[in-house]
Amino acid sequence: MTNTVETLMHEALDYEAEAFDGDAAANAADLVDWFAEWRERAKAVVRPVSERAGADASACTESEEPMRYLNRYWHCGEEWEDTWSCMCNDKCPVCGAEIEPVESEAISEEDG
Ligand SMILES: [Zn+2]
Repeated sequence: MTNTVETLMHEALDYEAEAFDGDAAANAADLVDWFAEWRERAKAVVRPVSERAGADASACTESEEPMRYLNRYWHCGEEWEDTWSCMCNDKCPVCGAEIEPVESEAISEEDG
């Protein structure tokens, strides 16, 4: 069975549900052991989201970083510019080649 956030939540809610619902004290040591194991599985389910965010930043996609770069590119007689979170390459609209920016200007979010 594949763990999802939903199945993990159900599992957490079902754990010692009778004891918790009845205000009876669940065995604390058992709870800690159970939680430690449950937490590892929860991390495995939740982690991909943060990994995806990290990958985005390194792949020069739009980001929430306050520092941005206005990159200018020239190729095939075309001139264009794009704003990225780093001085990364862009695709030439004419030939599709990956072009390095001719110049990059650091801009702040406020300047838009
Ligand atoms: Zn080109």
